[in-house]
Amino acid sequence: MPHNPPPRDGLGRRVPIRLEKVFAGREKLIAWAGALGQLEMRLVWLADASYGEEIDQSVFNRDLERIRNTVLAAIPFAPCECLGIEECGLCNSKGWMTAEQWNLRTSTLVW
Ligand SMILES: [Zn+2]
Repeated sequence: MPHNPPPRDGLGRRVPIRLEKVFAGREKLIAWAGALGQLEMRLVWLADASYGEEIDQSVFNRDLERIRNTVLAAIPFAPCECLGIEECGLCNSKGWMTAEQWNLRTSTLVW
């Protein structure tokens, strides 16, 4: 039976056992974002064909990009120091942060 390497966060660090399932999903979300990008390209080709000229490319470009960005923004990036056991405004008390939440944390450290 294949043994997967332990999941790592967006900084390449091993994650605590309590978050391994969450961070094991990182690759899945990254793959989904890539697939959405490929779908967008396929639709561009379709719309460029003579039979697809009535397709409004701007609509699916905008919508697929929005969906892709939604997936990208949701990717687990790093564990949160709150451990998910206390009320936390950075991670919404789930114990891990997206990249955007991480950047907010980093910018608060500057103060
Ligand atoms: Zn937190």
